[in-house]
Amino acid sequence: MSSFDYDLFVIGAGSGGVRASRMAASKFGKRVAVAEDLHLGGTCVNVGCVPKKLMVYASHYSEDFHEARGFGWTVGDSSFDWKTLIANKDKEISRLNGIYENLLSNAGVDLVEGRATVVDAHTVEVAGKRYSAEKILVAVGGWPMVPDIPGKEHVITSNEAFYLADLPKRVIVVGGGYIAVEFAGIFNGLGSQVTQLYRGPLFLRGFDQDVREFLAGEMRKKEIDLRFDSNIASVEKTDSGLLATLEDGSTLEADVIMYATGRAPKVDGLGLEQAGVEMRGNGAVVINDDFQTSVPSIYALGDVTDRIQLTPVAIAEAMILVHNLYGGEGRKMDYSDIPTAVFSQPNIGTVGLTEEEARKKYGEVVIYKSEFRPMKHTLSGSDERTLMKLIVDKASDRVVGLHMVGPDAGEITQGMGIAIKAGATKADFDATIGIHPTSAEEFVTMREPVSS
Ligand code: FAD
Ligand code: NDP
Repeated sequence: MSSFDYDLFVIGAGSGGVRASRMAASKFGKRVAVAEDLHLGGTCVNVGCVPKKLMVYASHYSEDFHEARGFGWTVGDSSFDWKTLIANKDKEISRLNGIYENLLSNAGVDLVEGRATVVDAHTVEVAGKRYSAEKILVAVGGWPMVPDIPGKEHVITSNEAFYLADLPKRVIVVGGGYIAVEFAGIFNGLGSQVTQLYRGPLFLRGFDQDVREFLAGEMRKKEIDLRFDSNIASVEKTDSGLLATLEDGSTLEADVIMYATGRAPKVDGLGLEQAGVEMRGNGAVVINDDFQTSVPSIYALGDVTDRIQLTPVAIAEAMILVHNLYGGEGRKMDYSDIPTAVFSQPNIGTVGLTEEEARKKYGEVVIYKSEFRPMKHTLSGSDERTLMKLIVDKASDRVVGLHMVGPDAGEITQGMGIAIKAGATKADFDATIGIHPTSAEEFVTMREPVSS
């Protein structure tokens, strides 16, 4: 029996922290505590993936009602009530919070409520009480970052967007990453007038160029006022709302201005510097391949390490850490070919390399592309189109990148991700029989390259 209060003290009951504490306690019989100062389940459950996806569903009904007419339906007057959506979403999240509490208590994990600080290599303090632990895991996630502009106090982030009292009539969304495009789609579908501003020439930096251009076109068709090379210089509160002055001197009025300009590790006041834990300039905790920080008894994973900010990644890291620490295994996290979806409207699904990355890595690549009107829209009246793209390494015939913009792209890409991870070749794709009629079958029926 060790002299510490716990074998493992986890700070943060989010995606990574809950999985690590549950597994260490239930699978390996370790004495585990987890501290949480907000809500169980962390960002994903409370102000991330879950409420966001529910709101994406909600926002799509406006198009669905409209499109139903082409199929013979007469849809009566429809109206949307924001308060009902928020109340139902809150109820579902409370249910999930309860499930997380049960998962932890059933696994024998002690839940410590409050903000934790690291005192030293083996001590954590929560609400004035100190706990000793053989190992400490920092899984505190991130927090929205808003640039310092005059009037910053008037803007909101995604954290507040989930709890607005009313649906804003006019919204400005600032940023060009996942959160900005997802919320531009949500507000637009629910009936707000949306302007999205991105500081660079084309949003979604890091995604395949065709995907970025295609989504921009589709969002504009839905009447989102998408402005590139555009940014806010200052914000003022006026009698009629908020007045944003842009860097080019022009002005824009809105009821809500939402910043989605990235998230920073939530390490303020956590005590990591004093404990000797090395961090990068933005607060990201530096870890080695074993998730170990510069203090050997302190580990970190998930968003606080600023590697890939996705829930399944934090969970996978937690599984590997716990199996290595307590199961004597030597697993390593593989960050290649991680499938991801942006729940924009239409969705993006992507796995593997972009065309630009593939050309750099492999030299000669063969590109297959298909752009079409999905069958549903032959009757729905919608002019939304779908893009699908495969990138093949010419030498090995391996499909090294797969991208889609279209309905259910996330669902389709999850399955395709297995093929890519397994090293499937274009010949394997060609040998696969399609499921007809689907959009997904296009991935196995593209025969003519568009370029090489
Ligand atoms: P978190 O889940 O953030 O958990 C950290 C926990 O630590 C929090 O509960 C926090 O309150 C707690 N904490 C922090 N400091 C302390 C302290 N000092 N003491 C005690 N507790 C503390 N990912 C996807 O894969 N798919 C999506 O669709 C998706 N959508 C998203 C939408 C939005 C709007 C946002 C913001 C994120 C989204 N993400 C999505 C990202 C995903 O939520 C994160 O990658 C994931 O939650 C990271 O898990 P984590 O365990 O590192 O941190
Ligand atoms: P991202 O890092 O994805 O995007 C931030 C955006 O803000 C970029 O377009 C960036 O521009 C821009 N930006 C940064 N600083 C400024 C500034 N000072 N002024 C103007 N624009 C600025 O962050 P998000 O906040 O969108 O999301 C955080 C992470 O959460 C994502 O990266 C993702 O990993 C995760 N997430 C995942 C989701 C999913 O799986 N569907 C959904 C939502 C979030 P530039 O590109 O020029 O740097």
